[in-house]
Amino acid sequence: MTAAPETTVSARFLGLLARDLPPDRLTTDPAALSPYATDRSGTRPGGEPLAVVHARRTEDVTVTLRHAHALAVPVVPRGAGTGLSGGATASEGSLVLDLSGMDRILELSADDQLAVVEPGVITAELDRAAGEQGLRYAPDPASAALSTIGGNIATNAGGLRCAKYGVTRDSVLGLEAVLADGTVLGTGRRTVKGVTGYDLTALLTGSEGTLAVITSATLRLRPVPVATATIAAYFPTFEAAAEASYAIGRAGVVPALAELVDGPVLGAIDPALRGRGAALLLVQCDGAGAAAEAAVVARLLTPFASTVETTEDPAEADALLAARRLALPALERLGRPLIEDIAVPRSRLAEAVREIRAISVRHDVPVYTLAHAADGNLHPIIIVDPALDRLPDAAWEAAGEIFALALRLGGTLTGEHGVGLLKRQWVADELGPAAHAVQRRVKEAFDPRGILNPGKAL
Ligand SMILES: Cc1cc2nc3c(=O)[nH]c(=O)nc-3n(C[C@H](O)[C@H](O)[C@H](O)COP(=O)(O)OP(=O)(O)OC[C@H]3O[C@@H](n4cnc5c(N)ncnc54)[C@H](O)[C@@H]3O)c2cc1C
Repeated sequence: MTAAPETTVSARFLGLLARDLPPDRLTTDPAALSPYATDRSGTRPGGEPLAVVHARRTEDVTVTLRHAHALAVPVVPRGAGTGLSGGATASEGSLVLDLSGMDRILELSADDQLAVVEPGVITAELDRAAGEQGLRYAPDPASAALSTIGGNIATNAGGLRCAKYGVTRDSVLGLEAVLADGTVLGTGRRTVKGVTGYDLTALLTGSEGTLAVITSATLRLRPVPVATATIAAYFPTFEAAAEASYAIGRAGVVPALAELVDGPVLGAIDPALRGRGAALLLVQCDGAGAAAEAAVVARLLTPFASTVETTEDPAEADALLAARRLALPALERLGRPLIEDIAVPRSRLAEAVREIRAISVRHDVPVYTLAHAADGNLHPIIIVDPALDRLPDAAWEAAGEIFALALRLGGTLTGEHGVGLLKRQWVADELGPAAHAVQRRVKEAFDPRGILNPGKAL
């Protein structure tokens, strides 16, 4: 008599999910799994995931995590997969927990200026819905039309308006999240203030799917400003533009956004823009004093710039910002981008720009740079030949030097995209041994079996 084939952990796990989830939630067809192995960074950790659970309700998440925890199966939470650090990439044998189908806006309160949403709501869709009540969701990553609120919270996404309104964390009042063992946890509150207990809302925001799975969020909304004034200034050099953007902050003006784009990026977006200068700085002031603030900004930029133009027409401003949002897709057409995301103290921005150029020359790799200038957040983007099956050593060496530069200038490896897979090897350099060890203990307290997005972030 032959022995019955051994029931593998994976088969048992899939059997339990098929038994306990509604019938349309589970995908195991190998042909449908491959896209989940990567995200917009193009990184692939290796192998194919086991299956995808398409969650529609919190109960789908609790059922999935309860079984995954019992059988120690790795789970990769996923929103829209627009991440740029490999955070949502799924390796061999892991289960992808797709939250994009939990996409309901559950409440929108004009009285309390807040919204309660499921994690799969698309960022721009929340902003649009809030706009119907004269409100807006302030964080606006350039990917707002694609990314989910859950992904934004898990990465603590930044965006263009962070200069004045802060990053995603500054708009998250409370969360519902499911712990690794399936326990549902509520954090935070509906009030603008509140300090009872440790701030678990802030801890989960930016935790990259490694501590808990976010299943709903209470988010702060803000009034749509009564007016905006937008300045487009072109510069003879990228350094001059960086110095000019610092002059705005030093003068005590707080613009709603200050976006800096270098000449090569301008050329990728539209060669006609490149013809206008070696760098473009877009600054927007908003609120009742927008026009007066913009006049001050224009005066501050003039000594550095070749041309400075101001518009109070929202349609013209939207066209300028739309061009800025095209930067990454335009660069993706040139080759495979390795996108970095360092942030430096604002006073060191021009120095960082100079050093990045020197690194590019030294390693002979093309580096295209854009920046959320008011936050000192630079995206130096190395473009490599898409035909290569791995990133060349020169690209990694240049990337390593850019990270070292950020730390030397008192900055950070990642201002908004997260560590994911791509920046993990440099994390200890920034955190130092004591903070790194405490972070590992936090991870163990939340996820003792290490099933949530293993191999990411820490
Ligand atoms: C064109 C373009 C422009 C971009 N511009 C910006 C920008 O301006 N600012 C910025 O910060 N980023 C930007 N990004 C990066 C990206 O859009 C953000 O990181 C975004 O927050 C990711 O959202 P997502 O829904 O795609 O998440 P995913 O990529 O699916 O996941 C990102 C991380 O969040 C985790 N996660 C997702 N959902 C959950 C959940 N519900 N619970 C727990 N963990 C979860 C994943 O495990 C992963 O670690 C840009 C990307 C592109 C392609």
